Amino acid sequence: MFTAGTLAVRITLLAAALAVSATLAACGTSPTGRPQIKFKSEDEMAAMGEQSFQQIRAQTPASRDQQATAIVNCVATAIIGQLPVKQRFGWEVVVFDSNQVNAFALPGRKIGVFEGIFRVARNQDQLATVIGHEVAHVIAQHANERVSTSTAAGFGAQAVSAGGGAGGAAAGAALGVGLQYGVLMPFNRKQETEADVLGLDLMAKAGFDPRQSLPLWENMERQTGEKPAEFVSTHPSGETRSLNLNNQLPIALEFYEEAKKSQLIPDCGF
Ligand SMILES: [Zn+2]
Repeated sequence: MFTAGTLAVRITLLAAALAVSATLAACGTSPTGRPQIKFKSEDEMAAMGEQSFQQIRAQTPASRDQQATAIVNCVATAIIGQLPVKQRFGWEVVVFDSNQVNAFALPGRKIGVFEGIFRVARNQDQLATVIGHEVAHVIAQHANERVSTSTAAGFGAQAVSAGGGAGGAAAGAALGVGLQYGVLMPFNRKQETEADVLGLDLMAKAGFDPRQSLPLWENMERQTGEKPAEFVSTHPSGETRSLNLNNQLPIALEFYEEAKKSQLIPDCGF
């Protein structure tokens, strides 16, 4: 027989059990072993990423530069090919007609590169640095972590500063849209460092020279006053970034040598 009392106890126990399972589901580790809090499922994040991507596409024309599009696709395909098999499929890559020095990747396996990236990426290895870094953010589920650990108010404040510093209307609008859905926002320093490290390994495995990451970030640093939206405000200083990259370089160079031995050197015509 149920009384109101036993029912209340049962409900309390159920609530406690649900809370415990929710907490367990939310804890995990990143690919470098860093503890992560992730409240959203991968499907939820993918849906948010796809929605943001559609909106960005609606607001920003795709590039008509066939050469730039071919180069970006070639580099992205080589990098995606080095992901674990389960993560290799369903990627969409779009080059946008915008002079903004910017690139992003979203949950749901979307990659966006602005034509302006060619103002800082001078060869295929430097472009691979950017794309490897962006893909790494997705693989490490940084957007999920960000959505799970920040408040909506915090996003709003960052959106204003990032949008103001970004300059180009397209990138500002794109960032705004992403922020609205909580998937395209400035990452924190730990996440940036992790994306650098994972991205370096990825590009090297794909047969791109990881040493080119250093001049790429230097070129990026020189774009003072119009830093790419993705790299605004939270990205590590040039010095910290160089130090992190130099630490990881011996490992990445081994991957690069292996790729060369397997004759896995992409020729993206750049
Ligand atoms: Zn980043």
